[in-house]
Amino acid sequence: MSIIFERIVRFIKSLYPGENPVPLHAPRFTGNEKKYLMDCIDTTYVSYVGEYVSRFEDEMRRFTGAKCAVAVSSGTAALHAALLLVEVAPGDEVITQPLTFVATANAISYCGAKPVFMDVQRSTLGLDPDKLNDFLINNGILKSDGRCYNKATGRKIAACVPVHTFGHPVRIDQIMEICQKFHIPVVEDAAEALGSFYKGQHAGTFGDFGIISFNGNKPVTTGGGGMIITNNETYAVKAKHLTTTAKQPHQWEFIHDGIGYNYRLPNINAAVGCAQLECFAGVLENKRTTTQLYKQFFQEIGMPFITEPEHARSNYWLNAIVLKDRQEREDFLQYSRGNGIQTRPVWTLMSKLPMYQKCQCTSLETAQWLEDRLVNIPSSVRL
Ligand SMILES: *Cc1c(COP(=O)(O)O)cnc(C)c1O
Repeated sequence: MSIIFERIVRFIKSLYPGENPVPLHAPRFTGNEKKYLMDCIDTTYVSYVGEYVSRFEDEMRRFTGAKCAVAVSSGTAALHAALLLVEVAPGDEVITQPLTFVATANAISYCGAKPVFMDVQRSTLGLDPDKLNDFLINNGILKSDGRCYNKATGRKIAACVPVHTFGHPVRIDQIMEICQKFHIPVVEDAAEALGSFYKGQHAGTFGDFGIISFNGNKPVTTGGGGMIITNNETYAVKAKHLTTTAKQPHQWEFIHDGIGYNYRLPNINAAVGCAQLECFAGVLENKRTTTQLYKQFFQEIGMPFITEPEHARSNYWLNAIVLKDRQEREDFLQYSRGNGIQTRPVWTLMSKLPMYQKCQCTSLETAQWLEDRLVNIPSSVRL
């Protein structure tokens, strides 16, 4: 086995010469980042006032095709605000997948709601529409308020949060159809999916809301930051209001008409985002080429490699391979990390974390299968 591992390590090093260790996903600043940052400092507009925020929002609308975009301080903040705006309330339930970053489940908890974990598909790594449908047919009931309730618990199923895992689009058209039938709002966790499309439409623009993250390891970074995207203008106005301390616009008065959040994105972060977006087409192309090289290599050595699902164009945020079993996964992680390659396993399933162990879940066999085998391999833009 170690001969195969050695070949993999050698191949990855050949893709990223001169980087030791080879990072999993390093940010790249090859455009106007410094220039725009200097501009913020020279003009003193480093905080919440300044033109880069609205410019970043405009460019995000143009790129994703979403009608509206609201910049916020993180992807997690974006998820929290979006869930509040579709009126997820204490005591409600929200359906999501166990195979995701912890922020997805945490944002549900911030609203006082409980996540319900449903299995994922092998082909997309995202929420399985068939299992979602089965669950709702067996457990969902539409009550006279027009909303779906869980028969077993009596709680409202207030939202569904599918994740476009590693940038691979989930079967969002099927999920939308099912959720519409049961009157369940959809917030797409497209944190990892900027530049990913399903049937030609950008991820995050199908649901009531989509959210994107600009954390340092995401395909576009602002240092830290996030974006709420929606095609619903009323929602967008509310999103801006809620994330800017619920302040009524006024030249000098401080009037806040609700308990809002300081989830604004500072101008210096937006400035970095504007510069990053200018280079993003090249980034996507570069990542796609890397994936092509990986795909060819892993085909040659007979190791399963994750590629974009049907009808989808993935941004290939993080490439992943599938090891034989948990033991081989451990061996490979040990070997590659010991030899200067920053590999990492997929997240531990949310349903196993202490704070979510008691949550409802359906059979999670595919998610567990993937947790046992998936390893992410270096996927930065190659310089
Ligand atoms: C990164 C990420 C988030 C959170 O984004 P932050 O900007 O780090 O708060 C949420 N969900 C998923 C799936 C992510 O990968």
